[in-house]
Amino acid sequence: MNDYALSRRRMVQEQIQARGIRDERLLKAMTEVPRHLFVDEALWTQAYNDHPLAIGEGQTISQPYMVALMTDALGLTGKERVLEIGTGSGYQTAILARLCDWVFSIERLTPLSRRAQRVLEQVGVFNVNLRVGDGSKGWPEEAPFDGIMVTAGAPEIPQPLLQQLGEGGRLVVPVGDRYLQTLYRVTRRGQELVKEDLGGCRFVDLVGQYGWKA
Ligand code: SAM
Repeated sequence: MNDYALSRRRMVQEQIQARGIRDERLLKAMTEVPRHLFVDEALWTQAYNDHPLAIGEGQTISQPYMVALMTDALGLTGKERVLEIGTGSGYQTAILARLCDWVFSIERLTPLSRRAQRVLEQVGVFNVNLRVGDGSKGWPEEAPFDGIMVTAGAPEIPQPLLQQLGEGGRLVVPVGDRYLQTLYRVTRRGQELVKEDLGGCRFVDLVGQYGWKA
C-alpha cells in the first residue's frame, strides 16, 4: 500500500526546506506525519501538493509551508504547553504534538473536531486535548501557554489570547480583513508585547466573540 512516504519527503525538501525552514525536529515531523489521512480519501493524491485543501464545512487544511512557517515561529523545544485555535483536520495539531509537551486545541465546528479526534487516535497522537467552542476566547482554565497558534484569520488580535500567553510565550496569528491577512508573532516579555510581521497570508475567518461575527 502507498503510504506516500516519497511524496512527503519531496514536500519537505521542495516546499519547506527550499523556502528556508531549518528546524530538524520540525522537518522530521513533517516527513513522518501522514498528512493524507487528515483529508478525504478522494484527495489523498493531492495531500502533499503546495496548496490548502478542502476538509468540509467550508474549511481548509492549510498549505504545508504555512503549517511549517507558523510552527517554526513558535520555536518549540519539546517542553511547551501549546494552545491551537482552529483544530480543522487535526494535521497541524499532530505536528505540534510531535514538537511540544501538550497541545490544547479548540474547534468551533463539532463534525471537524470529532473527525480530527478519530484521525489523531489512528495515527497515535495522544498528548492533545480537543474542545469544541469559541477559541477566540482562549482556554482560560489551562492558561498560561508557552505558545498559542491561531489558524484562522482575525480582524484584530483577540485580547484573551494575549492575556493567556505566559512569560516568554509566543502567539502566532493572522490579522487583517476577510481576504488578506498579515501573519504576526507576538512575544511576551513581562508587561511588554513584542510584535513581529512574518508576511502576508490568507486564511478562513476566525468566527467568534473576538473574531468575525458569524
Ligand atoms: N489547523 C487546521 C488544519 O491543520 O487542518 C486548519 C484550520 S482551518 C484553516 C481554520 C479552522 O478554524 C476551521 O476549521 C474553522 O472552523 C476554525 N475556527 C474558526 N473560528 C474559530 C473559533 N472561534 N474557534 C475555534 N475554531 C475556529
